[in-house]
Parts: sequence; structure tokens; C-alpha cells
Amino acid sequence: MKLAVLGAPGSGKGQNTGRIAQKYGLRHVVVGDIVKAEIRNKTEVGKIMYDYTSKGRFVPSDIVMEVLAKQLNTISPQEGFIIDTAPINMDQYNKMKDLVELDAVISLVVKDHNILRRRTLNRMICPNCRAVTSVIESPDGICKVCGSKLEHRYDDNIETINFRIAQYMRETVPVIEEFRKQDKLIEINAERSKEDVFNEICQKIDNFFAKKSLK
Ligand SMILES: [Zn+2]
Repeated sequence: MKLAVLGAPGSGKGQNTGRIAQKYGLRHVVVGDIVKAEIRNKTEVGKIMYDYTSKGRFVPSDIVMEVLAKQLNTISPQEGFIIDTAPINMDQYNKMKDLVELDAVISLVVKDHNILRRRTLNRMICPNCRAVTSVIESPDGICKVCGSKLEHRYDDNIETINFRIAQYMRETVPVIEEFRKQDKLIEINAERSKEDVFNEICQKIDNFFAKKSLK
């Protein structure tokens, strides 16, 4: 399986992508983590990337695709993977086409943008084990998995969130429509509870690949 997951900030991408990877035995390729590692290691591309991400902006496609390609090259064809989050604009889409052919793209749809704002503003992450939670689920600010002190993401503030939602609508939605035309789109109603969303994803992945193998 060669999958990618797309969704606006707060749609539940990180959480669901990790669980899908685990359930289907896929390599979990987090574009944001690859970018962060380059930034943390202060590589040449990392420094350029930081200029963009610190302003809440997308890193230019050629740079993202360069580091993504490096990562995908380490995965054997038998293993399969799930990418969180690319391609997020038509430029990335066009560059990625030459790099890899995806089987399907999972789109986490949240039509009510207030849900996205609320989820993102409430989000807490564990800097140690990378668990994602919220101020509602973890009011004591302590990670339930490893006991570390939880943090807000540096870019989870209302201005940045509004900017990222608008950017998603403008730049990522056209990519989703491309995959729809190719019959590769798996659409999920991501406004519901975590478990409902994950169950729908698994059901639709299974159906998608069952149908594909019949062809
Ligand atoms: Zn933790």
C-alpha cells in the first residue's frame, strides 16, 4: 500500500496516520518530522526551511520533495508506506508524480472550521514520545504515555491557524480534486469522535483495496 493522508490543521491527521501505519504495517512517513529533523540538525536545507515554517508558511515544494525522496528511497516496495502530509499543493503534486505513484489518498474532511480552530488551540503534544492530546483530555498537562510535561505547538495560535486553514482550502483542496478524478480518493467525515473516524478509515481502506484487487 502506498498511501497519503491530507487534512486541514486539527483534522486528526497525525493521530490517524500513526494508527493506520501500525494496523497495516506501513512505514509512517511524516513530512513535518523530516522537515523538523533537518531544522533541528541545522542542515543547509534545514536553515532555509526554518525561515518558512517559523512564519507558518509551507516550505517550497522542491525542497520538501528532495527530503521526502531521500526518505522514500529507504523503503522497500514490499513494505509500503503512508505519508503525512504531502502533496499539499499542485506544485508538490506535480513534482511528486515523478517520484512515486500513490495507490490512494485519504482526505480527512472537516467542513466546520470552528472545529478545526477549537481542536488546534486545545492541542498539546509530548516533546518526548510525540503523543498528541488536548487540554481537555490531559488537564494536568502531563503525558499519559510517558509522564513528560506536555507543550503547545509553537505554531498553534489563532492567526497561524486561520492562515493555515485558508491556505489548505486554496492550495490543498485542488490536489484532493485531482485524486478524485483518478478514483484514488478515500473521503472521511472527520468531524466525529476519534474512534468513529478511525473505524471509517479502516473500513474504507479495506473496501478500496478489495475492489482494486478484483480489477
Ligand atoms: Zn509522552
